[in-house]
Formats: sequence, structure tokens, C-alpha cells
Amino acid sequence: MPRPMLRPSLRGAPVYAPAATACAIDLRDNINLWGAPPHAIDALRTVDSSAVYAYPAVAAGQLTAALARVTGVREDEVATGCGSDDLIDAVFRAVAEPGEVVAHPAPSFSMVPIFAQLNGLVSTPVPLTRDGAADADALRATGARIIYVCSPNNPTGTVTPTETVRRLLRETDAVVVLDGAYTEFAPELDDLLAEAPSLERLLVLGTFSKAWGLAGLRVGYAVGSATLVQAVRASVGPYAVNALAERAAVAALEQDADWMRACAGQAIECRARFTDALRTLGLSPLDSRGNFACVPVSDARALAARLADRGIAVRAFTALPVYGDVVRIGMAPWPVMERVLHALGEVLAT
Ligand code: PMP
Repeated sequence: MPRPMLRPSLRGAPVYAPAATACAIDLRDNINLWGAPPHAIDALRTVDSSAVYAYPAVAAGQLTAALARVTGVREDEVATGCGSDDLIDAVFRAVAEPGEVVAHPAPSFSMVPIFAQLNGLVSTPVPLTRDGAADADALRATGARIIYVCSPNNPTGTVTPTETVRRLLRETDAVVVLDGAYTEFAPELDDLLAEAPSLERLLVLGTFSKAWGLAGLRVGYAVGSATLVQAVRASVGPYAVNALAERAAVAALEQDADWMRACAGQAIECRARFTDALRTLGLSPLDSRGNFACVPVSDARALAARLADRGIAVRAFTALPVYGDVVRIGMAPWPVMERVLHALGEVLAT
């Protein structure tokens, strides 16, 4: 018998392919729809050709230094990668042997079980509690090698208290990955970024794709103990952050923080107004702290299709644990959200 050409354990691994859309208003990706950071754009306009013909820094040293300064940790406690996707993939590979378990709340970020599978790991979903937090007891009971928690969580926007994360670290020997892709939209909450290195088995992830407005450049980062970060860097491999991306991200961190906070502030304001308006339409949105609303509905696909007919793309999730069908709607400047509300009103009335 000839051996199979491909890894049997990866048979059926999906290629990430969100439904294509030609909608004028696209609210599916939770990006910064207020734009891109102005100093980062200036930095890109003035790049030297060597940023293109030469290789970038092996491990984005300038970005690493800037992140260390801003987050108050040492440089050897920061890893960078091609989006935080890259860091999820890298930490899974760095920590767990094939066959070991990655436990994660469900619903949560859809790429987590896929990166688990790609690394030969077994993903074990654990339903969120009724209030949308990670269930510490149930996660602990899995005996997982890695516990992934996203707070605010995608796609619900609900939050897991930092005390739950501390408990997971105290009461298990797992490496805990805390995905903070949306933390900039919940400035009222504690974060564990500066503390992560001293917690040893905690890796906190961040991204430039959401509040920072640089999704097209693909930059993510991780903060944790030097031992964990060293293993994650090895797993990421060289040159993961390209020279243009590094330059833009450094400029953004150093000069566009106020711009970022202003955009995030507007997203937060829109979220509050939009959520109130959804309630007046008879819907019951979750308490989202991300830059998106999450709305349980009876048939998410049908609702998304009818909004698409009106030029508005939202993300439909079907049959989720705890919540059933939901639509996730990213925040944009208020006039855009008014058009969404108008379309929703029409769709719900028929
Ligand atoms: N984590 C979460 C929770 C996300 O929602 C996303 C993007 N949708 C990512 C990580 C990946 O972000 P990126 O790779 O663009 O940094």
C-alpha cells in the first residue's frame, strides 16, 4: 500500500474562507472603520527602497523594543508575529506535543480549533457560562496542556474576569493564552499585560489589526515570561513581521496612541447607542465590550442574507453553544450604523 500523500490527521482541515461579499458596507471583520493611524501612513510614504529589497529584521527588534517600552516589560518578554493568528499557532506548537489538549471556551475565536488541528492537538470546547465568561471549573477539568481564553471574547464580546485567569494559572499546570485582541475597547477592565511575565505560564496576545487600524499589514504580539517568549519566538520563525509592517507599527505605537484611543472611544460610543437602538427594535444584544455587537436571532443566515440584499455585510454564526444563532455586527462611524439600523428595522418588519 502506498503511503498517503497528506497527513491523515489534517484531512478536512478547512481553508479559512469567509463568504465573499460585494456589500458597500462591510461590518464582518471587527476592524477600525475610522481608518488607519496617520503617522503610520506617513512612515510608509517615506520608506527607503531597502525596506523592500532587503530582508527585514529577523525578529522585529525595533517593534519589540517599542512594545516593551509601552507595556512596561523587558524586550525578552515580547514576541511578535504575522498577526496574532501567527502567535496562537506558534504558542500551540511551542507548548504542546501532538495529541495533547487545547481547551477553549465555546463559542470563541473560530481559528483556535483550526490551529489546534494544524499542530496535531486535540481541541476541547467548553461552553461559556450563562454570563458569557470562561468556565474555570470546566476548563480545569479538561486537564488541558493549553487553555485559551479570549476577553473580550469573539464573537460574543463578553468578558472573563482577570481573577478567573489567575485561578486557571493557580489551579492547573496549563499554559494559559489570554487573547486580548479587543482589550482597547474595554479600557475600564483590568488587563494582565504588564504582569504576564511574572505569572510565568501566561501569554497575553495583542494585535494591531483592530483598534490600531493596521489589519492589512498583519502585526501581532505576545507578552509573557522570557522562557515562554523564547519558545514562542523559535516557533514563529524568522522574518514574520515584514519591514513595512514593522515601520508602521512602531510609528503607530509611538505617535498614534491618542488617535487610536479616540477611534476606540468612538467605537465604544457607537456600541452603546447601537445596542440601545437594537433593544428598541425588540432584539436582545449581549453585553459586548468589543468593537462589535453580538445579537442572538432565530435564523442568523437568513438575517445576514437579507441585510446583504440591502448592501450590508454582517457575520452570521449558527447553532453556537449557549447562544444558538447570532449575528456579529462591527462598529463603524455613526451614520453607517444608522443605515444598518434602518435596514434591520425593514427586515424585522417583514
Ligand atoms: N484573536 C481574535 C479574538 C480575533 O478576533 C482575531 C481576528 N479576527 C485574531 C485573534 C487574529 O487577528 P490578527 O491575526 O489580525 O492579529
